[in-house]
Amino acid sequence: MAKAFSSGIYNSNRWRKTAKAYAESQHYVCERCQNRSFAGTGKPAHFIVHHKEHLTPENVHDDYVVYGWDNLELLCIYCHNAVHAGGIDRECRFDDDGNPVAIIDHGKH
Ligand SMILES: [Zn+2]
Ligand SMILES: [Zn+2]
Repeated sequence: MAKAFSSGIYNSNRWRKTAKAYAESQHYVCERCQNRSFAGTGKPAHFIVHHKEHLTPENVHDDYVVYGWDNLELLCIYCHNAVHAGGIDRECRFDDDGNPVAIIDHGKH
């Protein structure tokens, strides 16, 4: 069955640790709009760790692209939706305790 090329990464412990550490380093403040309304509210669920250079089948094996902090950006859900415009739901989301949430492959039902 064809799975999204990136779903293995987003479900990996390495990615979850990287994303959580990065989000905490940014104190859950959106890097684009500096939206602080969510910060300190205990609602990290409103943030997503985004890859500036979007993952593709070609770069998905490049650790620098996937796990390097230089390619990560912490975005609130509003900015993230704007970035992707069409809506990609495969990057790192958090629950309200700041724990990365498992990515569900919506492609198959
Ligand atoms: Zn924002
Ligand atoms: Zn994104």
